[in-house]
Amino acid sequence: MVGCPFCEEFPETRDHLFVKCQFVWNLWCQLCRWWGVSWCCPQSLEELYTQWPGLVGNNRARAPWVVVFFVNIWNLWVSRNKLVFEAKVVDWGKMLESVWFKATQPSYCYDLSTLLINAESALAWNGPGCTFVLK
Ligand SMILES: [Zn+2]
Repeated sequence: MVGCPFCEEFPETRDHLFVKCQFVWNLWCQLCRWWGVSWCCPQSLEELYTQWPGLVGNNRARAPWVVVFFVNIWNLWVSRNKLVFEAKVVDWGKMLESVWFKATQPSYCYDLSTLLINAESALAWNGPGCTFVLK
Protein backbone atom coordinates (compact mmCIF):
# COMPACT_ATOMS: atom_id res chain seq x y z
CA MET A 1 0.00 0.00 0.00
CA VAL A 2 1.22 3.48 -0.87
CA GLY A 3 2.13 5.77 2.02
CA CYS A 4 0.64 9.18 2.74
CA PRO A 5 2.68 11.76 0.80
CA PHE A 6 2.15 14.39 3.51
CA CYS A 7 3.35 12.56 6.63
CA GLU A 8 4.88 9.40 5.12
CA GLU A 9 3.82 7.51 8.26
CA PHE A 10 0.49 5.92 7.38
CA PRO A 11 -1.09 4.26 4.34
CA GLU A 12 -2.68 6.72 1.93
CA THR A 13 -6.36 6.07 2.41
CA ARG A 14 -9.09 8.56 1.58
CA ASP A 15 -9.89 9.13 5.25
CA HIS A 16 -6.26 9.55 6.20
CA LEU A 17 -5.43 11.91 3.32
CA PHE A 18 -8.42 14.22 3.83
CA VAL A 19 -9.09 13.94 7.55
CA LYS A 20 -6.71 12.03 9.80
CA CYS A 21 -3.25 13.01 8.58
CA GLN A 22 -1.68 15.21 11.24
CA PHE A 23 -0.96 18.01 8.74
CA VAL A 24 -4.46 17.90 7.30
CA TRP A 25 -5.97 17.66 10.74
CA ASN A 26 -4.11 20.81 11.80
CA LEU A 27 -5.45 22.60 8.73
CA TRP A 28 -9.07 21.70 9.57
CA CYS A 29 -8.51 22.76 13.17
CA GLN A 30 -7.08 26.12 12.09
CA LEU A 31 -10.08 26.73 9.82
CA CYS A 32 -12.40 25.95 12.72
CA ARG A 33 -10.47 28.25 15.05
CA TRP A 34 -10.71 31.10 12.54
CA TRP A 35 -14.45 30.77 12.52
CA GLY A 36 -14.73 30.20 16.26
CA VAL A 37 -16.21 26.78 15.65
CA SER A 38 -15.70 23.84 17.97
CA TRP A 39 -16.07 20.32 16.66
CA CYS A 40 -15.65 16.73 17.62
CA CYS A 41 -13.18 14.56 15.81
CA PRO A 42 -14.64 13.03 12.65
CA GLN A 43 -13.18 9.63 11.82
CA SER A 44 -13.91 9.66 8.11
CA LEU A 45 -14.41 12.00 5.17
CA GLU A 46 -18.12 11.15 5.15
CA GLU A 47 -18.43 12.04 8.82
CA LEU A 48 -16.58 15.32 8.25
CA TYR A 49 -18.77 16.13 5.25
CA THR A 50 -21.94 15.37 7.21
CA GLN A 51 -20.86 17.32 10.26
CA TRP A 52 -19.36 20.37 8.53
CA PRO A 53 -22.44 22.47 7.54
CA GLY A 54 -23.98 22.13 10.99
CA LEU A 55 -20.91 23.45 12.77
CA VAL A 56 -21.89 27.02 11.91
CA GLY A 57 -25.20 28.06 13.42
CA ASN A 58 -25.45 31.38 11.62
CA ASN A 59 -27.36 30.89 8.36
CA ARG A 60 -25.60 33.82 6.69
CA ALA A 61 -22.22 32.25 7.38
CA ARG A 62 -23.19 28.75 6.30
CA ALA A 63 -22.75 29.31 2.55
CA PRO A 64 -19.11 30.44 2.71
CA TRP A 65 -18.45 27.88 5.44
CA VAL A 66 -19.57 25.06 3.15
CA VAL A 67 -17.43 26.50 0.36
CA VAL A 68 -14.46 26.40 2.74
CA PHE A 69 -14.97 22.64 3.03
CA PHE A 70 -14.91 22.02 -0.70
CA VAL A 71 -12.05 24.43 -1.36
CA ASN A 72 -9.98 22.75 1.32
CA ILE A 73 -10.65 19.30 -0.09
CA TRP A 74 -9.73 20.50 -3.57
CA ASN A 75 -6.56 22.22 -2.34
CA LEU A 76 -5.53 19.07 -0.48
CA TRP A 77 -6.00 16.96 -3.58
CA VAL A 78 -4.07 19.38 -5.82
CA SER A 79 -1.29 19.72 -3.23
CA ARG A 80 -1.09 15.96 -2.87
CA ASN A 81 -0.73 15.59 -6.64
CA LYS A 82 1.89 18.32 -6.89
CA LEU A 83 3.85 16.66 -4.12
CA VAL A 84 3.58 13.19 -5.64
CA PHE A 85 4.10 14.06 -9.30
CA GLU A 86 6.18 17.24 -9.17
CA ALA A 87 7.92 16.88 -5.77
CA LYS A 88 6.51 20.29 -4.78
CA VAL A 89 6.62 20.69 -1.01
CA VAL A 90 3.35 21.76 0.59
CA ASP A 91 3.30 25.18 2.21
CA TRP A 92 0.55 24.64 4.78
CA GLY A 93 0.38 28.31 5.75
CA LYS A 94 -0.18 29.37 2.16
CA MET A 95 -2.75 26.65 1.71
CA LEU A 96 -4.68 28.01 4.67
CA GLU A 97 -4.69 31.52 3.19
CA SER A 98 -5.61 30.09 -0.19
CA VAL A 99 -8.63 28.29 1.26
CA TRP A 100 -9.80 31.50 2.78
CA PHE A 101 -9.49 33.61 -0.34
CA LYS A 102 -10.92 31.05 -2.70
CA ALA A 103 -13.88 30.50 -0.40
CA THR A 104 -14.68 34.16 -0.16
CA GLN A 105 -14.06 35.35 -3.72
CA PRO A 106 -15.25 37.09 -5.77
CA SER A 107 -16.99 39.41 -3.36
CA TYR A 108 -14.30 39.53 -0.70
CA CYS A 109 -13.35 43.17 -0.34
CA TYR A 110 -11.07 43.32 2.69
CA ASP A 111 -7.48 42.21 3.05
CA LEU A 112 -6.57 39.11 5.00
CA SER A 113 -5.12 40.96 7.99
CA THR A 114 -8.36 42.92 8.45
CA LEU A 115 -10.29 39.72 8.42
CA LEU A 116 -7.94 37.99 10.84
CA ILE A 117 -8.25 40.86 13.26
CA ASN A 118 -12.04 40.77 13.03
CA ALA A 119 -13.00 37.22 12.08
CA GLU A 120 -16.52 38.04 13.22
CA SER A 121 -16.93 40.10 10.06
CA ALA A 122 -17.06 36.84 8.14
CA LEU A 123 -20.27 36.05 9.95
CA ALA A 124 -21.87 39.09 8.32
CA TRP A 125 -21.66 37.34 4.97
CA ASN A 126 -24.96 37.61 3.09
CA GLY A 127 -24.38 34.98 0.46
CA PRO A 128 -22.78 34.79 -2.96
CA GLY A 129 -22.57 38.13 -4.73
CA CYS A 130 -22.74 40.11 -1.48
CA THR A 131 -19.90 41.79 0.30
CA PHE A 132 -18.77 41.41 3.87
CA VAL A 133 -20.15 43.93 6.28
CA LEU A 134 -17.74 44.94 8.99
CA LYS A 135 -19.41 45.72 12.30
ZN1 LIG B 1 -0.42 11.48 6.51
